[in-house]
This record gives sequence, C-alpha cells and structure tokens, in this order.
Amino acid sequence: MKAMLNLNSPKSICVYCASSDAISQDFFAVANELGAAIARADYTLIYGGGEIGLMGELARSVHSRDGRVVGVIPEFLRRPGISYESADELIVTVDMRERKAIMESRADAFIALPGGFGTLEEMLEIITLKQLGIINKPMVFLNTGGFYNGLNQVFEHIFDHNFAKPRYRELYHFAQDVTEAMEHIESYEAPMLGEKWL
Ligand code: AMP
Repeated sequence: MKAMLNLNSPKSICVYCASSDAISQDFFAVANELGAAIARADYTLIYGGGEIGLMGELARSVHSRDGRVVGVIPEFLRRPGISYESADELIVTVDMRERKAIMESRADAFIALPGGFGTLEEMLEIITLKQLGIINKPMVFLNTGGFYNGLNQVFEHIFDHNFAKPRYRELYHFAQDVTEAMEHIESYEAPMLGEKWL
C-alpha cells in the first residue's frame, strides 16, 4: 500500500546519478532500491532521462512499481539506446543548462546516487544555490559503501580553511542507505543560515 503524504511533504525527488554501465552491481542494487522507495512513497522521479547506467536502472525500478518518471534530457543526448523513451514525460531541452534549471525547479528534494563528474557538477550546483539562499530544498548524497567519503573529506578541507562557514554543513546530508536518505528528506526543516558573507 502506498504511504500517505502530508501537505508539506515533497512530491517529487530529483536523482542525479551515473551514466556509466561499467560499474559494480552493488551500485545498481542501490539504484533499484531507491527507485522502489520513491515509487512506494508516491514521489515523482525527476532525473536526467537516460536509459543507461544507474539512470536507467532507477527509472525502470520506479516504473516497474507503477511510479511516475519524468526525464529531462538535452536534445543532443536524445538518441536510441541513450534516452529513456518510456518516461511518462520526457522533457527535451536546448542544452545542459536549461536541463539543470528544469530539473532543479521541478524537484522538491535532491538525491545523488554514486556518479561521475556529471553527477558531481549537478549536486555542487544545488549546494551553491542553497548556500546563496536561492533554494532551500533537502539534498542528500547516498553514500553507498562509503563512495562519497572522499568528497566529504574535500568539503571538510574547505571548512578547515574557512572557505565556507561551519553551518554550511547543514546544506547537505550524507546518508548511509536508502532508508536514511528518505527519512532525511521527509523530516527536513530548512536551516536558517543567514547571508553568505555579508
Ligand atoms: P556522470 O555522473 O558523469 O555519469 O553524469 C551523469 C549525470 O549527468 C546525470 O545525472 C545526467 O543528468 C547527466 N548525464 C551525463 N551523461 C548523460 C547521458 N549520456 N544521458 C543522460 N544524462 C547524462
């Protein structure tokens, strides 16, 4: 049975994740589990619109449980074998920037599964927007098998050298598993972080 949402709950979750197929099955298992959790809680999945890598696994997982999938893909990536044409809605954008803007505006929350440079760039933009107070939606790194431990160390390096305020640790959350990621999103209260350096 699908969980009931209260009026303040997020209705859609944007997931950024790998386009690579050459990765361990462990990562595919987590993508599948996240898709199941998204469908079970009746969230719409917003994602990069690919049928490859963790993107494809995630979208198929949501669909196989009767969930709703919205893909957002730039025109140049809309190709057979790359784009997920079975999406309930496939938004084709002029370029990558328009795509990111649409993904960000359509989502109530953000999760990063393990991924490469594309995933990282998408999440770092969300952190930057949160830091400037432009958005205040929850954001979670799904730290499967400690995949994002190294990134967390880079973030700590930034704090250690005062390139970011200590309270900006509240801009993101590293979750050990899907349950923790979903709980963080569902219980999220946006922190009051004040002006950036003013
Ligand atoms: P990466 O982590 O480098 O594999 O990049 C994955 C992220 O960038 C996804 O969240 C997508 O939004 C985007 N992306 C990169 N490559 C593709 C692709 N071939 N098809 C669709 N989206 C892609």
